[in-house]
Amino acid sequence: MAGAISPTPCIFCQIARNSTSTTLLHSDDKVVAFRDINPSAFRHYLVIPVEHIPTVKDLQRRHEDYSLVSHMLNVGQTLLRQDAPQSEQYRFGFHQPPMNSVDHLHLHCLALPFKPRQVFWLEWKHLKYLSLGPLGGFIEAEKLLEKIKPFSPISS
Ligand SMILES: [Zn+2]
Ligand SMILES: [Zn+2]
Repeated sequence: MAGAISPTPCIFCQIARNSTSTTLLHSDDKVVAFRDINPSAFRHYLVIPVEHIPTVKDLQRRHEDYSLVSHMLNVGQTLLRQDAPQSEQYRFGFHQPPMNSVDHLHLHCLALPFKPRQVFWLEWKHLKYLSLGPLGGFIEAEKLLEKIKPFSPISS
């Protein structure tokens, strides 16, 4: 077996290996998708790479990373269009450190409307998903793709 055993097992790595009770909505050799345990919207899914990549800061402008993020976005879009075709708005994005909750790259896929606003802290929670919010902790998937888009064309 390659790779060192991490002292604190990463929960998302365990989910990616399908060694938890989490239901996988999608899985392939690159990514898996599952429901956020604490949904902030009508539908709230997470798409994560199977490989342990800590945060968006670990992504670089190269084909490998660009195609991984495009694939994550594709999977998220497909799932939401299937499960929430009537949704008025979709949001796809990543938390940037230190706003990320788990140190394993994960794409938040949200189908709005957000959950009913009954509690004040929920309002605050929603701000996390606005890229122009006061916290500025959320980067839209499309923006991230622009940032890591390789300069040279992808040869096919
Ligand atoms: Zn991990
Ligand atoms: Zn997050």
